[in-house]
Amino acid sequence: MPIGGIQKTSLIDYPNGLSTVLFFKGCNFKCPYCHNAELISFDGEALNEEEILKELSRRSHLIDAVVLSGGESLLSDNLLSLTTKIRSMGYKIKLDTNGSNPDALKEMIEHGLLDYVAMDVKAPLEKYHQVTGVEVDLAAIQKSIDLIVENIREYEFRTTVCHELLDKDDLIKIAYWIKGAKKFVIQNFRDGQNVLAGKHQLTPYTKEELISIQNEIKPWFNEVIVRL
Ligand code: SF4
Repeated sequence: MPIGGIQKTSLIDYPNGLSTVLFFKGCNFKCPYCHNAELISFDGEALNEEEILKELSRRSHLIDAVVLSGGESLLSDNLLSLTTKIRSMGYKIKLDTNGSNPDALKEMIEHGLLDYVAMDVKAPLEKYHQVTGVEVDLAAIQKSIDLIVENIREYEFRTTVCHELLDKDDLIKIAYWIKGAKKFVIQNFRDGQNVLAGKHQLTPYTKEELISIQNEIKPWFNEVIVRL
């Protein structure tokens, strides 16, 4: 699966470090709030992978980590070999994933390639289909959650929220489901031109609403973060 975009320097995508973000093309979900709507399609122009590797090699003394984002990078046939090459340059690796491919996740874990994993937990089980826009193998989602909790030292589970898709009870249900995890991030929806559902179709929560939910679920995690 090709790389559709690159952000050469990011201050916010790897915790406490500078990172380069690679956006893989193609995703098996169709979340209405997706900001990378142009990357959901598996078709279209891709960047030259050899050029990207050369660029990463040139900048390895400047940047701490590479973030595998998308789209859904775990659907990529050559992710393991690509990540191995990136790792050999000395980079830390962060994976952003929707959790739908636990076999590929396991392979990356077994090769010791992941320093940080951020997995989206999209909805309570009964609403997964509605929030992702597709039929989802819920056993696969659970398997990914378990793999991360058992094997990854630094990780976060995160849920994007807008009023049209998730209400407060849904968020409490998600939090209860993954209770005991190290870090849970509630990520507010941000509107924009590239949102899959279209601009002005979805409504973010207010800061006060999110902080009130944060306070309610705090005892269940080491850390609960609200990203506005
Ligand atoms: S938000 Fe993530 S999982 Fe959902 S469609 Fe976009 S890239 Fe795929």
